[in-house]
Amino acid sequence: MIKVLFTAFEADPFVKTGGLGDVAGSLPAATASSAYDVRVVLPKLSAIPEKYVKKMEFVTTFSVPLGWRNQYCGLFRLKHKGIWHYFLDNEYYFKRDQVYGEFDDGERVAFFSKAVLECILHLDDFVPDIIHCNDWHTALVPVFLKEQYLAIPDFPNIKTVFTIHNLKFQGMYSDFVIGDICGLSNTPAASQLLSDDHTANYLQGASIYCDRITTVSPTYAEEICMPYFGEGLDWLFNKRRDALTGILNGIDYKAWDPAKDKDIPVNYDISSLSKKQENKMKLQEELGLEVNKDIPLFVIISRLTEQKGLDLVNYLLPEFQKRNMQLAVLGVGDPEYENAFRYYAGIDPAKFSAQIKFDGGLSHRMYAGADVMLVPSRFEPCGLTQMIAMRYGTLPLVRETGGLKDTVHEDNGFSFLTFNAGDMLYAVDCALDVWFNHKKRWTSMQKTGMSEDYSWKASAKEYRKLYSELV
Ligand code: ADP
Repeated sequence: MIKVLFTAFEADPFVKTGGLGDVAGSLPAATASSAYDVRVVLPKLSAIPEKYVKKMEFVTTFSVPLGWRNQYCGLFRLKHKGIWHYFLDNEYYFKRDQVYGEFDDGERVAFFSKAVLECILHLDDFVPDIIHCNDWHTALVPVFLKEQYLAIPDFPNIKTVFTIHNLKFQGMYSDFVIGDICGLSNTPAASQLLSDDHTANYLQGASIYCDRITTVSPTYAEEICMPYFGEGLDWLFNKRRDALTGILNGIDYKAWDPAKDKDIPVNYDISSLSKKQENKMKLQEELGLEVNKDIPLFVIISRLTEQKGLDLVNYLLPEFQKRNMQLAVLGVGDPEYENAFRYYAGIDPAKFSAQIKFDGGLSHRMYAGADVMLVPSRFEPCGLTQMIAMRYGTLPLVRETGGLKDTVHEDNGFSFLTFNAGDMLYAVDCALDVWFNHKKRWTSMQKTGMSEDYSWKASAKEYRKLYSELV
């Protein structure tokens, strides 16, 4: 039996702010089997809904050394989807208004990473063979393990996997944290963590200290070895190329299933695609758009940030207005984009809708009711929205980068390569041409997307293979 301790700062349904939450909420249960004992450890954030907190069972308390501090940590557990989830509690660090973006994130995640290692000493009969860490919030686990925990029996055998969900966010702080918070000043990590003379970079630390690095799509694994996508660390990924692989994320086929989805007005599947139109017209009505099944409805469901290619969309809004199409956006983010979408929704509400909020239920109705999902990202480690869209018979229109390139092809969607508004507009015009002039082709593309397998099955198999190679 291979024992895996999977750790992340968020996991659906406890806390989700983006794709990491989706992955951490699905992958552990998908990899668990009679041969793999997979358990999850998360921070007990105050954002976790009360209904889960009530069900948690108290295990014990212990203290966590953090530089010169000795901090309290409570350990709780809950069985969810058949696997143990452990929650590490410290109200000083985790009882906050927001999950990320606090002034002391560097200390909060260092505490969490240290507490992950400490909690192993309090789990009955479970010293993991592998700790699977995710993104910069858990990046210090491999560093602490190798620098401070090797004197503990069995700990030298623990291997670490570090998965990069988004290289843009690395956890960079003043080098003061290395000694004062991490207690690492007299170790080799003091220099390994430095990305320049005064900056400690947690993700860089993990990428040096872990046994294997994974990213969430094969193309993104190649891209981060190049300066354009490497966010300053391409030198390191080139150095560790042998340890680096890309494994495509999946989506949760139970949570995203047009045949059973309780959040959409009318359920449908590949054999009853005509019912998708009813969802479309209900959605047009809900969003205040012109209700007309013949006008193609494009949607965006996304964080409204530069990464997501919204500069292109912003630039093309006047062109979209001239065309026989509608665009509905669901998202929150940079005011620049929020306001551009609000403006167009204000001047032409029959064609544009701006839903500037985070709304899970509406996202389901939009996946079901849309004809095209726009994902013109500058870079996209994997991207879930294009896969969810395909499951709902909504054709993705993407830029060929990262996981978008690995999932969208000419028979299930539309794409363009260069990050250029003219190229994107050409792809939009191709989509409009297929919609208006080649209806059969449209339906066949929908069916191709709906019958492809983007569930966790294939990815879980690859992660299990990776785990077995390591032990
Ligand atoms: P990222 O992790 O970079 O934000 P992904 O495509 O990997 O992007 O995942 C985004 C996830 O968040 C999807 O499940 C998408 O449906 C969801 N999402 C994004 N914005 C919103 C929103 N405003 N309301 C509801 N769900 C959203």
